Amino acid sequence: MKPLTRLLAATALLSAVASPAHAGEGFDIVVLGARGGIQDGNLSAFMISPAGDDRAVTCDAGSLVGGLVAADARGALDGVAVPADSPYTRVGYVLTDRIRGYLVSHAHMDHVAGLVAASPDDSEKPVYGLPSVTERLQRNYFNWEAWPNFAFEGEPPQLRKYRLTDLVPGEARPLDGTAMQVTAWPLSHAGVESTAFLVERGEDAILCFGDTGPDEVEKSSAMRDVWAAVADRVRQKRLKAIIIEVSYANAQPDKFLFGHLTPAWLRRSLEELEAMAGPGSLNGLPVVVSHVKYSLKAGLPPTQVILGELEAGNTLGVRYIMPEQGDRWRF
Ligand SMILES: [Zn+2]
Ligand SMILES: [Zn+2]
Repeated sequence: MKPLTRLLAATALLSAVASPAHAGEGFDIVVLGARGGIQDGNLSAFMISPAGDDRAVTCDAGSLVGGLVAADARGALDGVAVPADSPYTRVGYVLTDRIRGYLVSHAHMDHVAGLVAASPDDSEKPVYGLPSVTERLQRNYFNWEAWPNFAFEGEPPQLRKYRLTDLVPGEARPLDGTAMQVTAWPLSHAGVESTAFLVERGEDAILCFGDTGPDEVEKSSAMRDVWAAVADRVRQKRLKAIIIEVSYANAQPDKFLFGHLTPAWLRRSLEELEAMAGPGSLNGLPVVVSHVKYSLKAGLPPTQVILGELEAGNTLGVRYIMPEQGDRWRF
């Protein structure tokens, strides 16, 4: 290559790296676990990072290393450059270096199994949750009985890997080591406190729900309170996507919901959001459907039934997405 050509090539490369298109807007989501049970290895976990910046957190961590392996096999981690001097595989590098913390909605096994399993080889990082959640993680898992104590407090010796970090409902705080911040609101999940997380980068936001029942069934205003808090952002098109559970199809009777949603209940709840944010405000909004329960029974898979029911009642014009483990989405 002639010196001038080399110079031009180098300049082109530099401007490509610095171009605003690279900085991007919105968020990248890698699906580490898509379902709510009963298939071990594919349980609720969504890796979230600002577009163009791979410093991430996960919303729940039911599957972690298994999810990263699946994502890597699908090419979803191809954009991650592992430094030449790193001792890690790409999966290892993403786990220990790119994932800067975990948002845990509640301490049920299907939301934390991946995090607990990965803890011996993970790097030191914060685990964020409402106080009831961090307290249960400490008491039920990191207690030297269910598992060694990888937290910073509790039963000695403390192996000081996961810094259990309390969130204050409705109060934004930075996600350490990332360009994002988080605000948490409590949800009602059949007597268990669960959490909705609003992750923001600049003007952009994405909303990730843990398990939740419908307000009417739970005798709660929790979901409505979350909608009230984000309605302005929806109106201003700053909310890029909602990740929310639909565990069961419409045939599931209310008394057997166990703190979960059906397509009909999700639609009714989204109608409340639209009423707050304005007519047509949800048109085109991506709604990622999480926590569908894997079925051992023959017949149409629940994902297909649920997506069909959601689409049949889609009067709001939202864009329903049924994610698969290893998917990468940009919103
Ligand atoms: Zn769950
Ligand atoms: Zn749960």
